[in-house]
Amino acid sequence: MTNQEKWNSAVALLSGEYASLPAPLQEEVRRISRQIMLLKDELHDFAESVDGAAICASCQGECCASGKYHFTVIDTLVFLATGKPLFVPRFDAEHCPYLGDTGCLMEPATRPFNCITFNCERIEGMLEPSEQARFYALEKALRLSCREIEDLLGGRYMHGLLMNFEHDVQEEGRPLLGERGNFNGHRHQ
Ligand code: SF4
Ligand code: SF4
Repeated sequence: MTNQEKWNSAVALLSGEYASLPAPLQEEVRRISRQIMLLKDELHDFAESVDGAAICASCQGECCASGKYHFTVIDTLVFLATGKPLFVPRFDAEHCPYLGDTGCLMEPATRPFNCITFNCERIEGMLEPSEQARFYALEKALRLSCREIEDLLGGRYMHGLLMNFEHDVQEEGRPLLGERGNFNGHRHQ
């Protein structure tokens, strides 16, 4: 199976599983998704405050060389829960498949955890100590929100949508969402 085929299957599977969740559970995922988006926007603002876009443009996105496993089940759920159309990845490219001609294919609020919480020394060095402390407090809050979704749906989703697909679905024959999100009688081992 190519990466594109895995992506298509994983997205289709997760869309179906999410649609099968009871309405109150979907609403809870939507609430946490909005919280995640706000936190990511706030984290992005720190890089913007020191003109991160210009710094990143001048280095031509070194840290976006590879990112295949950065985009997770949680990131996909944020798109599904908020009704945002999902972007089309480019698995034929040499760099991260989610990098487009003008930058990341995702807006900051939907960018993966690994990406939105990473500032290289060029960026971080320009933040005041108090700003750095605030940045790390936000990162912690974001991690807790992601954990909330994991606990709600009964799985571990910080290692990449494609990785979950390869491990949970292809190797173990399980659904992507864990026991609380599964209505076919299967349970996590
Ligand atoms: S965060 Fe640093 S390494 Fe990544 S694109 Fe920006 S300047 Fe380059
Ligand atoms: S997902 Fe976006 S920000 Fe992250 S590595 Fe890929 S292109 Fe860069």
